[in-house]
Amino acid sequence: MRETDARELKVRTRVAPSPTGDPHVATAYAALINACFAHAPGNDGAFVLRIEDTDRARSTEASEAAIFASLRWLGITWDEGPDVGGTHAPYRQSERLPVYAEHARRLLAAGQAFACFCTPERLEEMRVAQRAAHEPPHYDGHCLQLSSEQIARNEREALPRVVRLKVPREGSCVFDDMLRGRIEIEWRTVDMQVLVKSDGFPTYHLANVVDDHLMEITHVIRGEEWISSTPKHVLLYEYFGWAGSMPRFCHFPLLRNPDKSKLSKRKNPTSILHYRERGFLPEALLHFLGTLVDGRNDEALLACTTSRELVARMSDCFDLARIPLGGPVFDLEKLLWLNGQHLRRHTPQQVLAILEAWGYEWPQGVAPAQRERIARLAMDRVRTLEEFGPLVAFFTNRPDPSRAELELPELPASIAREALEIALPALAQDEQWHAAGIGALLKSAVAAHHWNGSGNVRFRDVVRTYYVAVTGSPTSVPLFDAMEILGKTESLRRLATALERLH
Ligand code: GLU
Repeated sequence: MRETDARELKVRTRVAPSPTGDPHVATAYAALINACFAHAPGNDGAFVLRIEDTDRARSTEASEAAIFASLRWLGITWDEGPDVGGTHAPYRQSERLPVYAEHARRLLAAGQAFACFCTPERLEEMRVAQRAAHEPPHYDGHCLQLSSEQIARNEREALPRVVRLKVPREGSCVFDDMLRGRIEIEWRTVDMQVLVKSDGFPTYHLANVVDDHLMEITHVIRGEEWISSTPKHVLLYEYFGWAGSMPRFCHFPLLRNPDKSKLSKRKNPTSILHYRERGFLPEALLHFLGTLVDGRNDEALLACTTSRELVARMSDCFDLARIPLGGPVFDLEKLLWLNGQHLRRHTPQQVLAILEAWGYEWPQGVAPAQRERIARLAMDRVRTLEEFGPLVAFFTNRPDPSRAELELPELPASIAREALEIALPALAQDEQWHAAGIGALLKSAVAAHHWNGSGNVRFRDVVRTYYVAVTGSPTSVPLFDAMEILGKTESLRRLATALERLH
């Protein structure tokens, strides 16, 4: 660790997730913006991953490991971090406690912070009174009045205490935001924030400012929910004498649900792991997050088949100033669409490998030689890897359609039966059993048939029955190809079974 006021000009950004719960898509979003900005042309900077695990009750090792794994899965890498090291190590706040303690002492000694011995009961009474008076909850400054003798006595008696930030009551804090320009917040609305908790652990505010300074972060780029905390941070930079090297602030808009509320688990899955498990491709999720950053729909991103390529391309044309202030909407439909698009950028052979790496297990009975052919057909029809299994299950699970499913919704019931009756002898003659031949035979059988009292029936009127008979569903992979893969005996057997159903 080193402390310096003579900062190099090199851009240094960071993302600072707390390892609580599942890794959140908002963390990936912030990481993407910070990584792209650090590596944008001309910045030639470094991107740091710092783990903010000062909440002892909620932080877990498993959650930290999941952050690393899910960001890596997405293709986001960091130049410095707990797992890769770096010149400003350690990067895990729980390993930096003496640093925060020393900085808290500095503030106390300078009278810029104060010890607060208020009991939880007193604080609760205070909050109740404030609520009754329709005041926003805030610390009332009670312990600011304590004499040094009282403080010394309380400390001798080892009364539990926290350290709070002394905040001016007059005037306002003014700071500049790279996206929003000048922001002014009145000091009287800023709470006397706890900086050190009674267990001796720092809160986010103290640890975050101390680390951003010591890690020489030049740009603090984070979600807009932190705007109201920024005055506390600005004050800390001033108290520590670091105002001259304060990082620049940029608060980007939060991800939103389609109804514009803040992205929440209840309305949209928020865990990166969820998307991996459901069979989204990392490059598609990353591309999607990229479109949310600046609303740009860059065709060239679609051509990227790896997320590494995508990050490199996004960094190359990254411009922080283009982030719009309207909340970007996390539209699952759009993500599904993009996923399908990215999937189809791969060859069938690659899709096979992706599916198997994701954990797809072929049912017994699908010969390895058939797998690539099936993948080729199905990849045009699925949006996620998860949709693949159900779509191709009919290859091994013989469908058992009901009469109602086989009948045609807009034609007399007898037409479906006739359609099957003419298909069987027509196909029985086919020796080649190739998709094109199967299609031609079926179509000419339908065209040549004299339909019982129904006038002209077209192939597209009856194809639904063939689909249901062979695949179990009126929409599936291309029918003639599916029949070719199934083979003549199996295909005819399915058509014959369906015909029996209609008698
Ligand atoms: N630990 C904070 C979080 O979880 C970091 C906020 C910041 O970037 O300053 O969001």
